[in-house]
Amino acid sequence: MATIITHPIPALVVNQFTKDIPSKRSLLMYSILLTILPDADVIGFGLGIQYEDMLGHRGFSHSIVFALLVSFLIAKFRLKYTGKYLYQGVIVLFLSTISHGILDGFTNGGLGVGYFIPFDSTRYFFPFTPIEVSPIGIRNFLSMRGLEVLWSEAKLVWIPSMLIFLSYLVFKKLQKRKG
Ligand SMILES: [Zn+2]
Repeated sequence: MATIITHPIPALVVNQFTKDIPSKRSLLMYSILLTILPDADVIGFGLGIQYEDMLGHRGFSHSIVFALLVSFLIAKFRLKYTGKYLYQGVIVLFLSTISHGILDGFTNGGLGVGYFIPFDSTRYFFPFTPIEVSPIGIRNFLSMRGLEVLWSEAKLVWIPSMLIFLSYLVFKKLQKRKG
């Protein structure tokens, strides 16, 4: 994974794009949760599931099918969205969930991500992997290596996300001025 600090950032960004959707707070909470949920698959290690299995780490829980499924279920049955809000809610939740797998695909360690499980069990990385993979375990994390990881994520995720968000604010302001 990238670190648990960085994964939720895309959720904060995509939620800015929903306007009058009901239960905005809950939607944001679920979006953040879903950016972290895919790594619950590490439980599998304790159950004897191998990393490279379809249910292994960076497997099904990091796939497009999983992201769609869980987003639909939460939007429909937890947030009780209907009509256009169901559609918008699923998109926000889906983008949040899949952003986790996308970030993992840019890290420089571990196995790749099974985006197309269950149809194709191949593990993928993006052609360039600039994000330092996060060390597993808190002790390793609180080290110089942890700092390096955070710095690589700051450059590659935090700052670009802030720029997207700021340009959105500027765009909105300009639009308001026009109208
Ligand atoms: Zn992950």
